[in-house]
Amino acid sequence: MTPRAIVIGGGLAGLAAGVALADAGWRVTVLERGGALGGRARSFTDPASGDVVDNGQHVFLGAYTQTLRFLKRLGTDHLIRFQPQLTVAFAEAGRRPAVLRCPSWPAPWSLAAGLCGFGALSWGDKLAMLRVVRHLRTGTVPSSTGDSPCSADDHLDQMTVAQWLATLGQTPRSRQVFWDPLTIAALNDDPEHTSALGLATVLARMFGQGSSAARLGLATVGLSDLYTRPAARIIEQAGGTVRVNTAVAAADGDGARATGLRLAGGERLTADAYVIATPPHELARLLPSSLTSRDPTLAGLSRFTASPIVSINLWLDRLITDQTFVGLIGRRVQWVFNRSQVVTAGPSTHVALVISAAAAYVGQSNEPLVALAREDLEACLPAARGARWLKTQIVREHAATIRTPPGSQAWRPGPRTPWPNLSLAGDWTATGLPATIESAVASGAAAALQIACTSNPAALA
Ligand SMILES: Cc1cc2nc3c(=O)[nH]c(=O)nc-3n(C[C@H](O)[C@H](O)[C@H](O)COP(=O)(O)OP(=O)(O)OC[C@H]3O[C@@H](n4cnc5c(N)ncnc54)[C@H](O)[C@@H]3O)c2cc1C
Repeated sequence: MTPRAIVIGGGLAGLAAGVALADAGWRVTVLERGGALGGRARSFTDPASGDVVDNGQHVFLGAYTQTLRFLKRLGTDHLIRFQPQLTVAFAEAGRRPAVLRCPSWPAPWSLAAGLCGFGALSWGDKLAMLRVVRHLRTGTVPSSTGDSPCSADDHLDQMTVAQWLATLGQTPRSRQVFWDPLTIAALNDDPEHTSALGLATVLARMFGQGSSAARLGLATVGLSDLYTRPAARIIEQAGGTVRVNTAVAAADGDGARATGLRLAGGERLTADAYVIATPPHELARLLPSSLTSRDPTLAGLSRFTASPIVSINLWLDRLITDQTFVGLIGRRVQWVFNRSQVVTAGPSTHVALVISAAAAYVGQSNEPLVALAREDLEACLPAARGARWLKTQIVREHAATIRTPPGSQAWRPGPRTPWPNLSLAGDWTATGLPATIESAVASGAAAALQIACTSNPAALA
């Protein structure tokens, strides 16, 4: 008989788990609380312009191997446009624009060469940074003791990014131009508060492997077109079902196994196995305390807090940059993405501005956010001065990603739970990666494997 699985949550993690299980011969039901699939990585069509708007610009890395494998399975990997080599343009008020361009050389020479030619930094800044780069050849990064590699994950997880960079002798300017923007973009948190392990992991994955790992890629379609519809199709073609507007209220068990789910409307559903792919607070609400109290990691779910991202979409009467994206140094808006170059074909001049680690901004109304965006753009991009703003639209993601303060790695549970037929997934689980697309996809694959192996231990062989 075909085994049946229910996946709770139709974000990247849930859909990656659902597709993996469908491919392994399972009949999968995906239950999604929202009106559409996609969770924190979704898109919609702006009714006035007809343009596709993401809930926030998502950047893919060449190092996202699991994501690229997932998209290949969906037949959409060609819809990510990667740079031939890592190239990041920066603009700064009162200074000439600068471009970090890393040639396609083996790691770490690619980054070293890029830094040497990067006009936004002095030679003193660059020499300090090359001390970090030196260690990337082996895919490891130095800990604060100077030369022990980051196999000492625990050690790195006990300090903040700011503390780690201080021990590595990084200059204030290298922090302002490179380290802090990278930390905020990759970890969506303040370098003064977030664990150094996350940044060390990003550096090792981006710059400690081949130069193609560091390339950045953008989807040429809306995020929902990139993966939600193709994933749902695969699940349904394998006999499964995808239900939106379907909130799960609780998971039940008999002490040894999960036995069913109760939906918010009262309906009860059963299956052979279950994957919960929701954020941590929702997971804590779904599981009975008799289960969470048996597992030290599950008992700590309430410790997770989240960091917001604010995205300001603008439609302008002219192009304000010919770059695909630009980092603004020392401003509140950190990145400007030229959506017209990547997604929207035609005359539209749609740009998406990103404010990550946006705790100070997420509560603000549209008016001050638009004012600060205008100020930042006009200060850094001369072409923005005098541009007419035709329309703005702001997306506030209050819980964009989990925060990872020092010591938080130990809080992240793996896929396994005390109920062998219930697995966990989500970008926040223990994937060894920051809470990103890649972590979400990796967690979904791990949860599916866990379910498949538990129900058929021979599959492990
Ligand atoms: C604005 C923004 C920008 C980002 N930029 C990047 C980027 O550039 N690069 C990158 O790698 N990552 C980025 N991320 C992070 C990335 O989007 C997430 O890591 C990823 O989408 C998380 O997927 P997930 O499936 O783990 O969680 P989610 O997407 O949160 O999925 C969980 C799903 O569970 C559903 N759910 C919750 N409770 C229930 C319930 N009781 N019953 C049924 N369903 C339920 C939710 O509705 C949701 O759809 C960004 C995130 C945001 C918000």
